Amino acid sequence: MTQTADPITEPHQRELGEIIEAYNLVTERLERSHVRLTEEVARLHRQLEEKNRELARKERLAALGEMAAGVAHEVRNPLGAIQLYASMLDQDLRSLPEAQRLVRKIASAVTSLDGIVNDILAFAGHERLAIQPLALARVIEDVMGLTAPQRDALNGTIHVSEAAADAFVRADEREVTRALVNLVFNALDAAGSGGQVWLDAVDAGAGQIGIVVADDGPGIPADLRQRIFNPFFTTKDTGTGLGLSIVHRIAEAHGGRVEVGDRPDGGAAFTMVLPAAAPVWTEEEKEQA
Ligand code: ADP
Repeated sequence: MTQTADPITEPHQRELGEIIEAYNLVTERLERSHVRLTEEVARLHRQLEEKNRELARKERLAALGEMAAGVAHEVRNPLGAIQLYASMLDQDLRSLPEAQRLVRKIASAVTSLDGIVNDILAFAGHERLAIQPLALARVIEDVMGLTAPQRDALNGTIHVSEAAADAFVRADEREVTRALVNLVFNALDAAGSGGQVWLDAVDAGAGQIGIVVADDGPGIPADLRQRIFNPFFTTKDTGTGLGLSIVHRIAEAHGGRVEVGDRPDGGAAFTMVLPAAAPVWTEEEKEQA
């Protein structure tokens, strides 16, 4: 016996089938958008956590900076007095070479303490920025001069790329010089005797320039990368651990950032990202061009 279709129930069944199919489709779509929304919420949650960590770090650093700057100011005055009295004694002790040698040791210790005090004040960063379009070549010239004694003592070499010499940034000249000096000092230090250091500039996108300081030293182990920017973190016997935290503060004060990575052929590469500027030339430079 063959079964014939029921002319009354068949349209209902078809309709029901269509309704179920539409329901399944909507359910599937809802499930997909639920998964998307859950992922989005998780992403925003992670972003919020990251921002909160950043904010907490900034607050900690600001408090630490305030305290350190207070101490540095208090220490600076007596240090000045010690320096003054040591130089007076130095003159009085001309006929006593042994005593004079000791006084000179006091004076040189005071000079190195003074350097630490200056670093602490730079880390606290109370200077008002004088931001202007700046030829990186000018900054590099100063950096080369300031780091020359250490470079020569280590018999090192600093290479400057054409891109670095041609770049322009919107920045405070003194602060950017200070940051680059710190990066170059570290690079020379890490590269050691006969080491190589490279200064380069790359397009960092969004109207920014990355100033790269790379070296052929041992590089930075992955587990230290988060910590090296913390104030007072150092692996050196005579380090203060303030150099990179000063670089970090200066980059952030310019609306930029500092990144650490590897040089492709070995060694470390630090990139300080700053706002780019259109080329500006002094009258003298225009005449020379
Ligand atoms: P300091 O130089 O006084 O130690 P910094 O804040 O400048 O302070 O540097 C912190 C630490 O980061 C250094 O002690 C060193 O371990 C590491 N570091 C910085 N620059 C480099 C580099 N170019 N290569 C390898 N390690 C580096």
